Amino acid sequence: MSESPDVIVVGAGLAGLVSTLELLRSGHSVLLLDRCEPKEIGGLAREAFGGMFMVDSPEQRRSRIPDNEGLALEDWLRIAEFDPEDTWPRRWAEQYVTRARDDVGGWLRQLGVKFFPVVNWAERGNFGDGNSVPRFHLTWGTGKALVQAVWGGIEAHPRRSALDLRLRSRVTGLISEGDRIVGCRVSAEHADSSPSAVPAKGGVKRPPQIEDTTPAPEGTHWGENPAEELNKPDQYEVRAAKAVVIAAGGIGGNLELVRREWPTSRLGPAPEKLLMGSHYYADGAMHEEVGRIGGNVTHLSRMWNYADAVRHPKPQRPAHGLKLIPPRSGVMLDPDGRRYGPVPVMPTFDAYSALERMCEDERKYSWLVCNFKIAKRELDVSGSQHNPYLRERRLAPFLLSVLLGKAGLVEHFLEGSPDFVSAGSLEELAAKMNDVTAELHGERAIDPQVLQREIGRYDATISRGKGLFNDDQLRRIGQLRNWRGDRLRTARFQRIVDPKAMPLVAIRLQPMARKSLGGIQTDLGCRVLRAPGDAAHDAQASAGTGRGGEPIPGLYAIGEAAGFGGGGVHGKRSLEGTFLGGCVFTGRLAAATIAGAELPVRIPPRLG
Ligand SMILES: Cc1cc2nc3c(=O)[nH]c(=O)nc-3n(C[C@H](O)[C@H](O)[C@H](O)COP(=O)(O)OP(=O)(O)OC[C@H]3O[C@@H](n4cnc5c(N)ncnc54)[C@H](O)[C@@H]3O)c2cc1C
Repeated sequence: MSESPDVIVVGAGLAGLVSTLELLRSGHSVLLLDRCEPKEIGGLAREAFGGMFMVDSPEQRRSRIPDNEGLALEDWLRIAEFDPEDTWPRRWAEQYVTRARDDVGGWLRQLGVKFFPVVNWAERGNFGDGNSVPRFHLTWGTGKALVQAVWGGIEAHPRRSALDLRLRSRVTGLISEGDRIVGCRVSAEHADSSPSAVPAKGGVKRPPQIEDTTPAPEGTHWGENPAEELNKPDQYEVRAAKAVVIAAGGIGGNLELVRREWPTSRLGPAPEKLLMGSHYYADGAMHEEVGRIGGNVTHLSRMWNYADAVRHPKPQRPAHGLKLIPPRSGVMLDPDGRRYGPVPVMPTFDAYSALERMCEDERKYSWLVCNFKIAKRELDVSGSQHNPYLRERRLAPFLLSVLLGKAGLVEHFLEGSPDFVSAGSLEELAAKMNDVTAELHGERAIDPQVLQREIGRYDATISRGKGLFNDDQLRRIGQLRNWRGDRLRTARFQRIVDPKAMPLVAIRLQPMARKSLGGIQTDLGCRVLRAPGDAAHDAQASAGTGRGGEPIPGLYAIGEAAGFGGGGVHGKRSLEGTFLGGCVFTGRLAAATIAGAELPVRIPPRLG
């Protein structure tokens, strides 16, 4: 490749890879820069569960799920709670809902990606106010399969030589000439500069199928063009003939920034103890740089953080957290052991509301109490690492794990996680829960009698029989069991204290930073827009409106860096599975715009 590629892509996560592939296809030369090691190509998508939000898909149709764009858009807008000035985010939402099936799912299918036939029902809302129907399409092979497919497409492309992939290369600044962005400054990083793995406390026994890290995508060449092998000086500049695309991820890897932007009006002060479930290079530095050159960075305080996280049994980085899919038949308790009420907190129904409830208490943690039988059937982890059969596409053991439950996973956490305790009685459980919080929070807040009373009341309701169930959690368990995607993974109205289901299990849950809903504002072609008030450049700008002005020539943003489109396509909340899809969608649209062949904008459905 000549010294100046057509396009520089900053970030080799899913968004950056998708754009790169599409740019190669449209005849461009690409310089793809990333701070990461070769085995980390694909960014967060490598670790992702692989759930994708799509509307009126073949899988939904086969399962007779009546979905349509109008219904999906209504759901999206209700959850997003866009502000009136969120013009671009709303337009992005309309386009995403209308085009995800074909422009995301269809495109991935052409690369060989398959989706599991049973569609999952995430974020249905505590009161039916989330996804009206199941839309979470699980990628067969998890996020790792997505990365493999896109990376495989790049590797197999006849114009593969038009890609210059430089890893361990950190972009430190953008270069402008007049109004235009023409390149960036790069700093070579060395093999030992990535965050070192944090050694696990004590021995962690793991079933052999749970790997510590997901392997590199097939075909990744170890040592391909790491910066120090390029005979490049430690700092250098690169220029692009046509465009620079920012695909550097969100801000969730920078806990200081997450705390600074924490939405205190809804969630109170930022938690002192916050886990990190994002990319350790998602530090917000490129957001800051885009702001510095006049780009509009919006809504950083909108984040998709989770309340159901635990400390990683074998952390790979500081504050490494794992998002659980906690058992829905467990009872959620506040730090004093009192059940949340009158509306109980129940995992997977409404992630934001669960975080709000947890954050009502300044201690900002919760307990989930269940038993081994429930945990075996219902406990899961969102991510490729702890779903080896799905990740490795091993159908028979995967189906068996759905049928028989995941005893190995529960044992793995009971033996290795400091946030899991088990006991033969509620009294013993209370003592062990107190041991955990004594060490972490300096308190022993669980009174065994309170625990007995709360769990006893729940169990007594179940014992009275279905006809007398008058408990919102049991009503919702009934609803879960009505959908075949959940039936096998939901225990049948299981009491907590039950000699046949022992031991008892308690899980301490806490907040974890994950996804950025805000980001660099873009138009529908992924062109970065100027900040309002940058009047020297911006005829349309009106200060304070957040609408953004005209595009900055040569600069594009995609994926989580762009708030998955428009600087915040989700508004304040997500329907889940919308992130990976957003990376594919924005990655494709940016490449099409740069190629001058914008994908046709679809007319959104009319809402009643
Ligand atoms: C465990 C887990 C499970 C998930 N499950 C799902 C799911 O089921 N469904 C879903 O929709 N979403 C899911 N997500 C979220 C989704 O994976 C991410 O939002 C998405 O992959 C982000 O992709 P990206 O390309 O925008 O950014 P990233 O994947 O963060 O990639 C950004 C890249 O930019 C590089 N970079 C950053 N700064 C610089 C710099 N200055 N110079 C050079 N390079 C830089 C980084 O090294 C990184 O490789 C999950 C996330 C996790 C962690």
